[in-house]
Amino acid sequence: MAFVITRSCEGVCDTACVSVCPCDCIAGPVPVERIRSLALSDRPAELAAVQLFIDPDECIDCGACAPECPVDAIVHDAVLAPDDPDRRRNAAYFGRRGG
Ligand code: SF4
Repeated sequence: MAFVITRSCEGVCDTACVSVCPCDCIAGPVPVERIRSLALSDRPAELAAVQLFIDPDECIDCGACAPECPVDAIVHDAVLAPDDPDRRRNAAYFGRRGG
């Protein structure tokens, strides 16, 4: 079991989830340091199609990240269908099979 970051993260990329994750399993195509160099108000334009993902093989299912997200983009995979697109996208980013 793992948590999944949904597409609600796109253009938000708050990164508070990264700060609380105990196993460093949240990442994305734009380095967190680069994201944090951008003002929150600039991120929708600068990071329009960018989001963060959770590695399903490394996530220890602690749940610490979910309440940190300001747009409720992080959900437990138990509430998603096996073939849910967000589940597959998180797994695929890290080269995992997912599902
Ligand atoms: Fe990290 Fe815990 Fe969130 Fe998994 S549930 S991504 S281990 S903070």
